Amino acid sequence: MNRSCYYSIYLAIFFATQIISGQEPFLTVKPYVEPEFQQYAIRNHADHHYPTQIPDGINVRFDGNSFSENIVAFNCNSGASCYDGHAGNDYHMPSDVPILAAADGYVIWSAFSPGADPCPGGIEPNGLTGLIIIYHYNDYFTCYLHLNPPLNVAVGETVAAGDTIGFNGMTGCASTPHLHFEIRKENHFFDQELPWAVDPYGWWGDYEDPIINLRGFTSAWLWKSDLIVDDGNTGFQRFYGPNWSYVNNGYNDDAWTVPALTDSNNSAHYAIWVPEIPDSGEYNIDVYTPNITEAATHALYEIYIKDANGNNTKTIVSHDQTNNPDSFTTITTLFIPAGSNCAVILRDMVDSASAGSYVVFDALRFVNTANAKITDEQSQQVFPTDITLHPAYPNPFNTSTTLSYELLVNSVVKIDIFDILGDHVKTVLNEKQAPGYKMIVWDGTNDRNKTVPTGIYYYTVSTNRFSQINKVVLIK
Ligand SMILES: [Zn+2]
Repeated sequence: MNRSCYYSIYLAIFFATQIISGQEPFLTVKPYVEPEFQQYAIRNHADHHYPTQIPDGINVRFDGNSFSENIVAFNCNSGASCYDGHAGNDYHMPSDVPILAAADGYVIWSAFSPGADPCPGGIEPNGLTGLIIIYHYNDYFTCYLHLNPPLNVAVGETVAAGDTIGFNGMTGCASTPHLHFEIRKENHFFDQELPWAVDPYGWWGDYEDPIINLRGFTSAWLWKSDLIVDDGNTGFQRFYGPNWSYVNNGYNDDAWTVPALTDSNNSAHYAIWVPEIPDSGEYNIDVYTPNITEAATHALYEIYIKDANGNNTKTIVSHDQTNNPDSFTTITTLFIPAGSNCAVILRDMVDSASAGSYVVFDALRFVNTANAKITDEQSQQVFPTDITLHPAYPNPFNTSTTLSYELLVNSVVKIDIFDILGDHVKTVLNEKQAPGYKMIVWDGTNDRNKTVPTGIYYYTVSTNRFSQINKVVLIK
């Protein structure tokens, strides 16, 4: 056996051992800890103008806001970490918070590795950086930097979304503990000159994404929520800013507030909802606000729709957050074409007419208005439930009909009547109820208490987790 062959065998055994040993020994060193429910702020976003570690004097954020040199701007809370030429998003969080895999894939890098040289912003490197890179089978890579030792995964290991791959730290080019989270397309090498990074938030600015000049394509919105109701605490980080207050109230008993501002120069907070819209059509955009005092009366919801050709439209809706507490309220109805992406941004900004000290952040949902125009077969569909509906009685009816159901848990229950065209006729119930058997009478009138004409009507019964549509027939 010659010397080089000997080394080959030795290396093969070494790697095989590494792959097999994977996660097990690690857990004896640092047991898995469930992350606390809290939202970690992004202090520095990917720079659309030039997403590498080379500063070029301009930092352009996902929403088109741009900052010039010496970037210690109003929405950049830490001057030290807010710099130009940044390729990822920095999530500031305490040391040793578990870092989870963003999506299924396999590990192609897991090692303490040299960081940028010199470090951005002139800071001193804090040793080698704990770096993990996962390949996601589709040309995309996610990179996790500044992790503390030991790293939880080995090269070659398969991971599922949500697996703990390591723990937050400040190794490498970092002056405070934070996760530098970077998405790369086509190439995982940390070549400082080529802008392989893409922005998971995509591009929502009103003008062309500057990245197109470097890559030939615009940034895609990589993460969307497929939940009908998006409460903001699943999926990737959507909140930004330092002064959040948690409120044990609202949808799923959790909501957040921030101080309301009128001067945009002081604005420091926002949240983003990015729902998945499967079908093109007309959608109600519903927002949920808890019953708290001092909510803003003119909160501004920015609704972005980006069509299949990449054209953005932005609609701003002012909404009174004290209105209709503890339930969903439709703030606008918009047509969403097939292949579109949608997002809603709510900031700490209110207009000058607004009363109330806080902007409140809670659940959002997009409801296809065609759901009110439902066929007979679909109306038979029953979803898993915290409520059991009984048939309306009498049906057909002449003067009034009784809608009855059994509620199994405390819940806000809403009953709406629609006509056959899907137009809203009346809300007959919208209140928080205790469990039990309930009967609600609809007397065949609309929301102006006028009797409606003979015909087919639909009624929706909804709670936080349930919605069903049934038919009644009014015969005069
Ligand atoms: Zn970073």
